[in-house]
Amino acid sequence: MSAEFPQSQRLFEQARSLMPGGVNSPVRAWQSVGLNPRLIVRGQGARVYDADGCAYLDYLASWGPLILGHAHPEVVAAVQEAAAAGTSFGASTPGEVELARLLTQAVPTLELVRLVTSGTEACMSALRLARAATGRSRLIKFDGCYHGHADSFLVAAGSGVLTQGIPGSPGVPPEIAGLTLSLPYNDLEAVRGAVQRYPGEIAALIVEPVAGNMGVAPPQPGFLQGLRDICDAAGIILIFDEVITGFRVGWGGAQALYAVRPDLTCLGKIIGGGLPVGAYGGRRDLMERMAPSGPVYQAGTLSGNPVAVAAGRATLAALQDGKAYNLLEERAAWLESELTGLARSRGLPLCLNRVGSMLTLFFTAGPVHNLEDAKKSDLAAFTRFFQGMLAQGVYLPPSQFEAWFISLAHTEPDLEATAAAARKVLAG
Ligand SMILES: *Cc1c(COP(=O)(O)O)cnc(C)c1O
Repeated sequence: MSAEFPQSQRLFEQARSLMPGGVNSPVRAWQSVGLNPRLIVRGQGARVYDADGCAYLDYLASWGPLILGHAHPEVVAAVQEAAAAGTSFGASTPGEVELARLLTQAVPTLELVRLVTSGTEACMSALRLARAATGRSRLIKFDGCYHGHADSFLVAAGSGVLTQGIPGSPGVPPEIAGLTLSLPYNDLEAVRGAVQRYPGEIAALIVEPVAGNMGVAPPQPGFLQGLRDICDAAGIILIFDEVITGFRVGWGGAQALYAVRPDLTCLGKIIGGGLPVGAYGGRRDLMERMAPSGPVYQAGTLSGNPVAVAAGRATLAALQDGKAYNLLEERAAWLESELTGLARSRGLPLCLNRVGSMLTLFFTAGPVHNLEDAKKSDLAAFTRFFQGMLAQGVYLPPSQFEAWFISLAHTEPDLEATAAAARKVLAG
């Protein structure tokens, strides 16, 4: 491998001497797929190019944000224009107001919204607000759902930690972790049980309305509404973590798709168009508790950064055209039918879960409704598939427990090439 990808090899060796594991975020290290990572120097449309000059059809999409593909001309122009006008002021700018308007129009449950710089920050702040509003401390989350790396969420926390077989994380005080109840996804009985066990103690329930961090697991019919009903009956704040699903599964996110209204919503990824933006928002009476209109503190030097906000606005503007989501659905459905057809004709035990343009091919017969189901996947078979696809020039997320993302830059020939690569790799 070092002979084949000398530049990536050389750079990664340097990186390892400078950064823990050679990376700034664990899943980038490709540990679970038995390779050293390729360092990426450029992206254009549906493709990325590594340091050795190889091109790949990219289904990672920066882990979700790049729904328009890489270096979309309107996003690049917006970033250039904003950067030339000054990168940060520590004061409010018109662009923030405009992004807040777009978000609240697209997602009607966002009566008020606050911009932050990451999904982690959005989730952490929404939890603080829920605890403040209820005067309670406990949190319910679901096994395999990821809500960023704040202490309270690092319990059975999905892809990154899962891939490395670390159940939680050292450094999270047991007093904090003990306040988090992690339950099986799609299991309303488990939620009812937990709520009965801790009457009046649960501040919030946070859920990925379509799970993406155990691989894609859609909500079973009635699951999200069931959560809404349980939370209403017990005075629990329902938080939808739409950091992936927001503007991914549709213009109004998963809450519009499944017609369930959370109290608070967390956003990130797509709303920054590839630059660092997160947001949380929801009921006005709750959001008004945030400083400076209320006493709950949360702040950020680069919150609503003008360059990042410009990338987000340009991305949302391109998506606002009603055809975008139909096109994504059409293309993703085509790839799904090719891959499931392939599995069927070869008699392979594969299970494909998809909602809109996010999908996961699990190396298990399925069905996959929760983390326990996802863990039945044959990880050695996934690793062979990942390596084979990479050799065919297709860059998939380097973990079984992640979503592939289709962007508007993926053309029909791109998808045909992907299906052809899968045919070859699965035959081998
Ligand atoms: C990515 C992600 C986060 C964390 O966002 P960061 O910007 O990486 O901090 C939170 N929730 C979900 C569902 C995510 O997929």
